[in-house]
Amino acid sequence: MYDVIIIGAGPAGLTAAIYAARAGLNCLIIESTMYGGQITSTPEVENYPALKKTAGWELAESLYQQAISFGSQLNFEKVNSIINDGSLKTVITDENAYVTKTVIIANGAKRKHLNIEGEDEFSGKGVSYCAYCDGSFFKDKTVCVCGGGNTALEDALYLSNLCKKVYLIHRRNEYRAQKHLVELVNKTEIIEPVLSFIPVKISGADSVESITLRQVESGEEKTLETDAVFVCIGLFPENNSFSDMINLDSNGYIISDETCKTSCPGIFVAGDTRTKELRQIVTAASDGAVAATAALSYINQMED
Ligand SMILES: Cc1cc2nc3c(=O)[nH]c(=O)nc-3n(C[C@H](O)[C@H](O)[C@H](O)COP(=O)(O)OP(=O)(O)OC[C@H]3O[C@@H](n4cnc5c(N)ncnc54)[C@H](O)[C@@H]3O)c2cc1C
Repeated sequence: MYDVIIIGAGPAGLTAAIYAARAGLNCLIIESTMYGGQITSTPEVENYPALKKTAGWELAESLYQQAISFGSQLNFEKVNSIINDGSLKTVITDENAYVTKTVIIANGAKRKHLNIEGEDEFSGKGVSYCAYCDGSFFKDKTVCVCGGGNTALEDALYLSNLCKKVYLIHRRNEYRAQKHLVELVNKTEIIEPVLSFIPVKISGADSVESITLRQVESGEEKTLETDAVFVCIGLFPENNSFSDMINLDSNGYIISDETCKTSCPGIFVAGDTRTKELRQIVTAASDGAVAATAALSYINQMED
């Protein structure tokens, strides 16, 4: 039996493992693909404190090495569900059933893609899913933001402080974001709204040079020159299999706050998969530390 099973070996899960194993807990991490999570798909991270600039995979490797150095075990399996047997939980994977005192869900979230020509080809070469992560690479350049919700508008405003021009492309004829954000965008000269257009193709030689758009009603196409395309059409968590025992919000995120507790005692949550304002490595790592410490307190209380 394990003290804690951590679902997901991204920054949240690996940090939880560092804290849990270092506190003497018998800790198993279960990862379905490769350790590191989303950061393995970014060529450069330059906003993690104390690391000036590092490749995503290098940060993933350091986190992993640090986690296993304290004695955590990592198994590559996909978690399908959790059974709550009262004080104990059973984590069900494709191959095994593991009994544990506590669970930390750190299964992250996935960025929605546009699914258009050139998007995959130029991912990391101008196509980005995170303005806060990659915006500074495009200082004084022209960029596009695709999306019409709060995140897209916030990202466009953030980029307007760095870039010389920001096109804000949305398929509807008005943005879906909060009114004050729309007002701010409208007041910001650097941001040029491009409404009722959908992106159809991203082009370039070695990196992004342009984006082709199609007018929703007329079908007429036009091309904008741009150095980057920021895709901000949302994230999606995959928590349906836990919804019978844990409260989720209307978007599928696990409801929690800075304590990282869920609605089910003994099950904790860390990282992008929980309700929060800022989904970044530093906040995921912070959650991992909090969740592992909360799991330790829970186990100590169980044993009192
Ligand atoms: C392209 C890109 C660039 C980014 N750049 C930066 C940056 O520069 N700076 C920054 O701070 N943030 C950046 N981010 C955001 C940052 O990567 C995330 O906020 C962070 O990785 C979240 O960590 P996490 O551990 O919560 O989730 P994730 O990193 O998503 O890790 C979750 C892990 O859980 C695993 N998993 C999922 N479901 C299961 C299951 N059922 N069973 C077992 N395992 C499962 C996944 O395979 C994954 O490895 C970037 C994101 C992307 C996509």
